[in-house]
Amino acid sequence: MSNTPKSVAVIGAGPVGLAAAAHVLARGMRPVVLEAGEQVGHAVRRWSHVRMFSPWSYNVDKAAERLLAEQGWNGPDPNHYPTGGELVEHYLEPLAMRTPLSEHVRTKARVISVARSGFDKVKTVGRETAPFEIRYQNGRGSETLRADAVIDASGTWSSPNPAGINGTEAIDETANAGRIAYGMPDVLGQERARYAGKSVAVLGAGHSAVGTILDLAKLRKAQPATEIIWILRGDNPEKSFGGGANDKLAARGELGHLFASLVRSGGVRVETGFRLTHITASGQKLHLHAGSACCGRHLEADELIVATGFRPDLSFLRELRLALDPALECPPILAPLIDPNLHSCGTVRPHGARELAQPEPGFYFAGMKSYGRAPTFLMMTGYEQVRSIVADIAGDKDAAERVELVLPETGVCSRPLTSVNENDGCCGGPAPVGVDACCQQDANAKEAGKKGCGCS
Ligand SMILES: Cc1cc2nc3c(=O)[nH]c(=O)nc-3n(C[C@H](O)[C@H](O)[C@H](O)COP(=O)(O)OP(=O)(O)OC[C@H]3O[C@@H](n4cnc5c(N)ncnc54)[C@H](O)[C@@H]3O)c2cc1C
Repeated sequence: MSNTPKSVAVIGAGPVGLAAAAHVLARGMRPVVLEAGEQVGHAVRRWSHVRMFSPWSYNVDKAAERLLAEQGWNGPDPNHYPTGGELVEHYLEPLAMRTPLSEHVRTKARVISVARSGFDKVKTVGRETAPFEIRYQNGRGSETLRADAVIDASGTWSSPNPAGINGTEAIDETANAGRIAYGMPDVLGQERARYAGKSVAVLGAGHSAVGTILDLAKLRKAQPATEIIWILRGDNPEKSFGGGANDKLAARGELGHLFASLVRSGGVRVETGFRLTHITASGQKLHLHAGSACCGRHLEADELIVATGFRPDLSFLRELRLALDPALECPPILAPLIDPNLHSCGTVRPHGARELAQPEPGFYFAGMKSYGRAPTFLMMTGYEQVRSIVADIAGDKDAAERVELVLPETGVCSRPLTSVNENDGCCGGPAPVGVDACCQQDANAKEAGKKGCGCS
């Protein structure tokens, strides 16, 4: 047997890809991280204005922290809820640039194919011992590298779900792309001029849609001509209000409460049961059609924001033998654990190499992408995934099987997605981590020997 340490290609330099590389280094193997963007954390930078719902103590991987600590890193306040921008500035950048990982990260390196060297998808005999061949583009052309194992942590941010009701693009969605944004655009910051004083339709019913609508409502305070249209595919807006004071997650309940008040006060025009099929344009207006472009239901807006979730890009994995759940497009064993019909983000049990393994030995999905179309992913779950996967690659089956992460029942998702300017949070903001309280004032009251602040 060769004594050369195994090489592991990691696709994507997001939080989970970089954590994977830190674990690979810690086990004496050789990581190569390939990142499509110009800088690490390319996807997180796109939502840098969003305040995270998990505090620092849940956002830092252990192996990464050890690398950083060796360089004299002062960890941020564990109870603070960073923005995406702060996550990049105070964690991802120092990790990728000021630790030994810096020698192993290649940016502007977009992976375009992964295959077994010398084997197309059909050829079987000897396949499992062949190294992987990873082709990537780096601006100078195509380059190829070989690796013993591959961890695909390329996220889903760059493949948002389209606006069409069937999961396909609405007719002429691409033709009108100039007035359509996906995900959570920074409507109070960088994109303010685009949305101020306009009529803005937001399609979706999840946290991103709710956060964006609340931000648009703030924008309207400064620019009263701003009009907000909330388009729901379903018939029940109340589902997006959360449990209010009954919500086990106090801050999320508070956001739902704020959102419900906004909607009930008529601050948002609500269009339920709108099954978008066509998008046309005339002059400055987008025309959103349900049913048919001529005679079905029809709405007008200057801008459309599509917040209908994300899906994995599987195109560059075409020559690998993959097993995916038919609905969620995630590893099949994982599917029942993360089915969004059954789980919230705090209730998915930690899992690792066993659940994430593929018929192609040595290839693993990790991070956001491993959840396919399920929206319930948590960074700390990803860190546990890569700890276990890397142990598996290193041949340490005990460590790979072990579960080292204990997820608090509901404690992690204790803050909803909102922009940095949001002054939300029930009674002074979320409670500090590890304290049995629903909010900061509740925590203060309990520390002072009282029963609590009484808000819930
Ligand atoms: C707005 C928002 C807020 C969130 N807040 C929280 C939170 O508070 N707490 C929490 O636990 N989770 C949160 N999440 C969920 C999740 O933890 C994050 O999305 C996290 O960034 C996922 O990390 P990742 O490394 O798996 O993927 P990403 O951060 O998406 O990183 C993937 C990287 O791969 C790169 N890439 C893509 N394709 C290729 C390719 N072909 N070749 C090379 N590189 C490629 C991308 O450029 C990107 O840099 C949030 C998600 C969103 C969208």
